Amino acid sequence: MTTTRGYAAQTAGGKLEAWEFERREVGVNDVSIDIEYAGICHSDIHQVREEWGPAIFPMVPGHEIVGRIVEVGSAVSNFKVGDLAGIGCFVDSCGECKNCKLGKNNYCLTHTTWTYNATEADGTTPTYGGYSKNIVAKADHVLHVSESLDITGVAPLLCAGVTVYSPLRHWNAGPGKNVAVMGLGGLGHMGVKIAAAMGAHVTVLSHSESKRDDALAMGAHTFICTSDASALKAAQNSFDIIINTVSADIDLQPFIRTLGMWGTLVCVGAPGKPYSIDGGELMTQQRSLAGSGIGGIQETQEMLDFCAEHGIVSEVEVISASQINEAYDRVVASDVRFRFVIDTATI
Ligand code: NAP
Ligand code: ZN
Repeated sequence: MTTTRGYAAQTAGGKLEAWEFERREVGVNDVSIDIEYAGICHSDIHQVREEWGPAIFPMVPGHEIVGRIVEVGSAVSNFKVGDLAGIGCFVDSCGECKNCKLGKNNYCLTHTTWTYNATEADGTTPTYGGYSKNIVAKADHVLHVSESLDITGVAPLLCAGVTVYSPLRHWNAGPGKNVAVMGLGGLGHMGVKIAAAMGAHVTVLSHSESKRDDALAMGAHTFICTSDASALKAAQNSFDIIINTVSADIDLQPFIRTLGMWGTLVCVGAPGKPYSIDGGELMTQQRSLAGSGIGGIQETQEMLDFCAEHGIVSEVEVISASQINEAYDRVVASDVRFRFVIDTATI
């Protein structure tokens, strides 16, 4: 075991503070990564505050991780010391179930091991995430990161990026498609950039009028402030795909009405509370309501390569570890442009 430092919540809803803990020795199939940046995802906040149910403490959150490989196991052939690498939301999967064999190991039917707030496949060893100096993980669950991108904006791709990329690909975003993104936060702004790069016509549906200029600057073609009921009404029957990234339990009904014929509203926002849906609104024009959860390792690599090709990174505010608690409050208040990233040198 090797001692490392991180920032942890010791109890549900507790403040994050410096904490020393152990990482396992590098096994034959493992790599060790010295973490440089770790993004703050709203999912971190949901889990620290137990908004998704009972969680495991102490909790070192963080599943948007980028850093350099410092050690490789003897059987690892896909990484070498010095490579830039990333880790996202999960660090292990069975590799043998139907979904893993399809390359969808984010939907492993046996044991997707989450990067933190989970246990390893042995069912007892807790996992600790990216708000830390170092992490040891199986090399086949680690991603290659291009040296061509601004590294400070890369970490959020590992969760926010792939979580919007996967449904945009699955529901065929591209030229001729009318895509809307609900909520312009960490996920939402990546959705705008990626959907625009795919060639879709992109509309932002935001409850923050102050984000209009930023939305248009990052590639949206249209901005609708959702508190303007007439503007939302004017958009009725128009979208092919809506990606709902909103972290709060809002009324989806007015948004479902903006779907056109065969349109799909995909929920990726995870407020932890059920939505109330009128099936009648779905029957109209054969609309669909769907969901999507992160992306598999293969698809995450595809997304990273797509972002490298298109020069896409997250818009970030780099903070020191001592600012994490304040950053959490600002994320909840929708006051983030557009992702907080921790400089782990400050841990
Ligand atoms: P975020 O940065 O906080 O963005 C959420 C956005 O939702 C806010 O910026 C805001 O956008 C909007 N919003 C927040 N409160 C609202 C309210 N009361 N009414 C209307 N709009 C509101 O969060 P994030 O990191 O992007 O994550 C978004 C959600 O996705 C979270 O619930 C997170 O847990 C979930 N998530 C899911 C997956 C998955 O695999 N499905 C992966 C990662 C995250 P505007 O100001 O523009 O309205
Ligand atoms: Zn996340």
